[in-house]
Amino acid sequence: MPMDVEQIMEYAKKVDEKTNSIITFNNELIENPSFIVTIKDNIVTKNLRTTAGSKMLEDYIPPYDSFVSEQLKKANALIIGKTAMDEFGFGSFGVNSCIKVARNALDPNRVAGGSSSGAGAFTALFNKKYDNHVAIAVSTGGSISNPAAFNSVIGITPTYGLVSRYGLIDYANSLDKIGVMGTNIDYMKKVLEIIAKPDPRDQTNVGLKEPIKYIDKKFTIGVIRVDVDEKIEKAFYNFVSELEKEYKIEEIEFPLFDIALASYYIIAMAEASTNLARYGNILFGYSVNPKGKHYDEFYMESRELFCEETKRRILVGTLVRTKGFKGKYYEKALIGRKKVIEEYKRLFKKFDLLLTPTMPILPPKFKELESLKPINIYRMDILTVPPNLAGLPHMSYPIDKFIGAQFIANHFNESYLFSIAKILS
Ligand code: GLN
Repeated sequence: MPMDVEQIMEYAKKVDEKTNSIITFNNELIENPSFIVTIKDNIVTKNLRTTAGSKMLEDYIPPYDSFVSEQLKKANALIIGKTAMDEFGFGSFGVNSCIKVARNALDPNRVAGGSSSGAGAFTALFNKKYDNHVAIAVSTGGSISNPAAFNSVIGITPTYGLVSRYGLIDYANSLDKIGVMGTNIDYMKKVLEIIAKPDPRDQTNVGLKEPIKYIDKKFTIGVIRVDVDEKIEKAFYNFVSELEKEYKIEEIEFPLFDIALASYYIIAMAEASTNLARYGNILFGYSVNPKGKHYDEFYMESRELFCEETKRRILVGTLVRTKGFKGKYYEKALIGRKKVIEEYKRLFKKFDLLLTPTMPILPPKFKELESLKPINIYRMDILTVPPNLAGLPHMSYPIDKFIGAQFIANHFNESYLFSIAKILS
């Protein structure tokens, strides 16, 4: 049956009223689409405003398409609009958006997670009616898994380099990965195959060599022991006992959580601070009249529209790569990352998949956030950061309200994640 685009957009607007999840709706709609997508607002879309959640880009209308949006258009996707996010992807709860703060789809008093907050919240409600919608989201250190868990949808982050980053507004180039969120694994597979074609314009891109296959395999699963909120622990171990009926499960330790978290935040902030240099009022950013102003004054004034967390990351990121400090921080973080990758490679000799809960906490209520310091917030990423730092494909699968289980596979083993999701759903 052909889809009624007007009805779809009407419903999308209702979902946005409840969840505050769409920054810009698309007005150039196609007829007879094959499926529906939303796109995170840090992926550029030709003639459709792209803010990356930042006041710096509040009026930015890209003159070109990202690789991903180009492929989606070719495949006849209906692009509903651009989803809300933390400014440039800096955050875990969506509250660092300087344009629009999304609310949790299951409880509006709670955060939607982050940084792909809009993608998570929108998918959870919209897909109740249209499960052929897939949200295109981005993860640097957990931004797909985290909102997927908090809104009880599926989120898949592919191997680093699988999807072209051409037209992605960079957070940290060595970590950024475009992926998919949804509720119907068949549509998620189809959309990932469409956007994971090889692209010579991104030199780190490899693309999929062949379509993703559902495979029937007696997976061996290493369950990593972690410290999480009591409710999450209960839901997680119930889920593990269900898995145990079908698969070989072993409980294991992962000794590098703290090293991974510290290394991630140093590398991510170092790269972010260089990427943000371009918002200096010449190429991109806020328009300040330079007349009669010294360069320093003009540059400083033009950067005042960055919000608080972004300023913090510029300061920390610049410090950790400065001569005299980089040996102490940045170079050590690179060693930390290498250790984390080696540890995973060791574990993947024995296991097909590794498993943890996705988040250590339930989505906080907005008012609870006031008492949290940045360092406490960074710690919430303890379970999502390690696979991201290692560039490994991973999936948050919903196991209860607000709660996800995170499966991690070896590089380019996306098919394991899709297969397990297919069996579970
Ligand atoms: N919360 C993490 C950060 O702030 C991850 C965000 C992301 O993946 N974009 O860096």
